[in-house]
Amino acid sequence: MDKPSSPPKAAAPEDVWLRQDTGRSNKSRVVWIALMKVLSGFVLGVLFYGALRHFNPSFGGKLRYIGSVDGEVAAGDGGNAFKIRKGSKYLLGVGKADITGPVVEINMMGYADTKQVGSGLRQRLFSRAFIIGDHERPDDRFVYLVLDTQSGDTAVRYGILEGLANLGSDYSVYGQHNVAVTGTHSHSGPGAWLNYLLPQITSKGFDKQSYKAIVDGALLSITRAHSNLQPGYLSVGSTKVFGANINRSLYAYLANPEDERAGYNTTNEDDGSVEKTLTLLKFQRALDGKNIGVLTWFPTHGTSMLGNNTLISGDNKGVAADLFEKSLNGDETAAKGFVAGFSQASVGDTSPNVLGAWCEDGTGRQCSFKNSTCSNGKSQNCHARGPYFRRNDNGASSCFEIGKRQFEPAKALYQDMDNLGTPITGSSVKSFHIFHDMSNFSFPLSNGSYVTTCPAALGYSFAAGTSDGPGAFDFTQNDPNTPNASPVWRVVSGFVHEPSKAQRACHYPKPILLDVGEVTSPYLWTPNVVDVQVLRVGQLFVVVSPGEATTMSGRRWKKAVAEEASSLALSDSAAVDPVVVLGGPANSYTHYIATPEEYSVQRYEGASTLYGAYTLNAYIYLTLTNLPYLSPSSNTRPKPGPFPPNNVNNSLSFITGVVFDNPPIFKKFGDVKTDVQHSYRAGATISAVFVGANPRNNLRLEQTYAAIEKLDSSSGRWVIIRDDSDWSLIFKWKRTSEVLGTSEVEIVWESEEGTGNGQYRIHYWGDSKSVGSGAISSFEGLSGTFVLT
Ligand SMILES: [Zn+2]
Repeated sequence: MDKPSSPPKAAAPEDVWLRQDTGRSNKSRVVWIALMKVLSGFVLGVLFYGALRHFNPSFGGKLRYIGSVDGEVAAGDGGNAFKIRKGSKYLLGVGKADITGPVVEINMMGYADTKQVGSGLRQRLFSRAFIIGDHERPDDRFVYLVLDTQSGDTAVRYGILEGLANLGSDYSVYGQHNVAVTGTHSHSGPGAWLNYLLPQITSKGFDKQSYKAIVDGALLSITRAHSNLQPGYLSVGSTKVFGANINRSLYAYLANPEDERAGYNTTNEDDGSVEKTLTLLKFQRALDGKNIGVLTWFPTHGTSMLGNNTLISGDNKGVAADLFEKSLNGDETAAKGFVAGFSQASVGDTSPNVLGAWCEDGTGRQCSFKNSTCSNGKSQNCHARGPYFRRNDNGASSCFEIGKRQFEPAKALYQDMDNLGTPITGSSVKSFHIFHDMSNFSFPLSNGSYVTTCPAALGYSFAAGTSDGPGAFDFTQNDPNTPNASPVWRVVSGFVHEPSKAQRACHYPKPILLDVGEVTSPYLWTPNVVDVQVLRVGQLFVVVSPGEATTMSGRRWKKAVAEEASSLALSDSAAVDPVVVLGGPANSYTHYIATPEEYSVQRYEGASTLYGAYTLNAYIYLTLTNLPYLSPSSNTRPKPGPFPPNNVNNSLSFITGVVFDNPPIFKKFGDVKTDVQHSYRAGATISAVFVGANPRNNLRLEQTYAAIEKLDSSSGRWVIIRDDSDWSLIFKWKRTSEVLGTSEVEIVWESEEGTGNGQYRIHYWGDSKSVGSGAISSFEGLSGTFVLT
């Protein structure tokens, strides 16, 4: 075992902490910001419309070009000229909103470990919404959502679509065909919001509060993006990201044909075993040339925070997005409210634990190449290592580092997009979406022979987990007396199905552990109906994948789309090559998508490929069949297909609510139990403990539980310099007595080297639930003042 040589510390660059000081208290600041956001969207819209009318009375047409420089057009509002490389004009909008669900007492989603239950918050979770519309035909548009969640989901998507329908005619333009709900694949968020039974087993069922936080926040991000829709330009570029991913199933990857792999093997550092390319789409508004957002795609698992972490965060993608957005505070190239989406890509066989998988059994050996097992023949001792694995911080330092390794090249590319980017051209903004039942779907391969997919099933290696999270699921320990066994498992274990001969043959060579696709009691365990969706703007095509495509699966899928798009001449100009990206896991969660060759190896990714060896081929077939709907002249949509079940109101739940909160005798909520010291050096870890209450009483969405405040000596006001969105500020909650209802909150600031001198304090906002009436009342706590030198 490796022990930490120094106390855990998040390495933070100084320049990312720039914050606007408003001088207002946090509560009023949040209300003020929310109000301003609503108002400014409206006022800006009116002003902008007026400005356009002023210099071009036929607004709805084009901005006035005032000259052409070197293949670029300089456009302007009559005063401030700015350069834009040639590209088509679109309607663009971005928005961001808080989706942080219950941060305590809820099982976390990703590692499928009943013991991994939230105990606090390291970083708030967000939904980031990107809307792209056709400038001439504004009904042709799509929404791409990036949620800091493990995946997109059927129930969540139903909730978002219902919410949009309830927003009235302004939002009737959004529907099944043009809303993509993707997740960053963070394994550090609260769970209990998924539609199907399997992930609900470890979370003890479904939790409406957890679900609603995601749906409501996603909707709010969409309405924000919608209300700031405005004309603008898109450009796409790519860069290499090194040191942020490796292939965790190289043995399976090597089963793919050698000549195919050789085509992607360019250098030692970029040997093709994972994709090192990050693709960036930049959103620039026409009004003044300022950028309003970026959307990036790069594959690496959201498993930097390890399975023993119990603090909610957006994992490495959450770090990258936060660093990017905060780095542009006050930057002249970026508009206020700039949104950076770090979307997941062909994530299936990638790992952010780039130092590889090692046996923690005293042998000092790497896990076996073939099975990721250790000296005892089992996988439980095999653990993947991030860059700072020696620090005993549940992966936090490695997570920050892997986030930074994505942020830095993305930022460098952003700054040089004028040279490295390609303008998006062509007026077409199109999308399609279908549901398709994958059980027993027969379709032709390119050689003409017919193959069939099967009702979903999981193989034996699924239970073994991966080196990022060994031993997932508790299935073999189905002992009702085991304290950690899920009560859901006790209810449903009797429904486990013995697969038929035909089902076994269909999944061959996968040995079936769980025949999930053929059990409908008490309701479906995993989806049989999948989402197939592609979005398209100009030459950019976004394959929206419901499963975790492996590196080679993603490549085959994207290549097929690029070739078909070229042969159908879908780009408006033959001179422009299609650019294809893959985003997911999205819309539903259909586990993994391995190639047939990887499937034959049956490591975790192959064992978790739900519909048999031809799962990937089926997805590609369905995608290509529907691709003509993206043609510029298309004004029809494919048939929607069979709708999947919505289990929001019929899911099992053994999750209990907050009973009540009480302060200890002679104390009140918010009282300081352990205060700060009088002085610290910048870089020190600073903490205070308060008499607390259960944070599930109020999610404080768009607000904060914790803050670091600094005294502004000129005004005498306390100004918030860190809040729940900051990686370095940690909010921990602990129940101290079930019977008495007492609890405590510890707020920890891992202060950064280079933080300015001055006077600081820690501020806590809580909400308690009263014993009798169950009424919720808010309270505050303040630490003593401390000096940072
Ligand atoms: Zn995964």
